[in-house]
Amino acid sequence: MIIKIVAAFLVFMVVMGAVQKWLNPRHKTPLDKLRQTKLPRPRKCKRCGKFLIGGEDCRCKDR
Ligand SMILES: [Zn+2]
Repeated sequence: MIIKIVAAFLVFMVVMGAVQKWLNPRHKTPLDKLRQTKLPRPRKCKRCGKFLIGGEDCRCKDR
């Protein structure tokens, strides 16, 4: 029962976001914010330029 309510709420949020975007394309919806937080900008190593994943430091300095 709760799953149905949660699913309905999620659908409602997505629809509301789509409507808001349709009415005002420059408006940032909560969904956009969620996407931005889930996909951070790729970080590059300052020494070798390799992409770093998960906030780890590059291993090139160990060599
Ligand atoms: Zn490096």
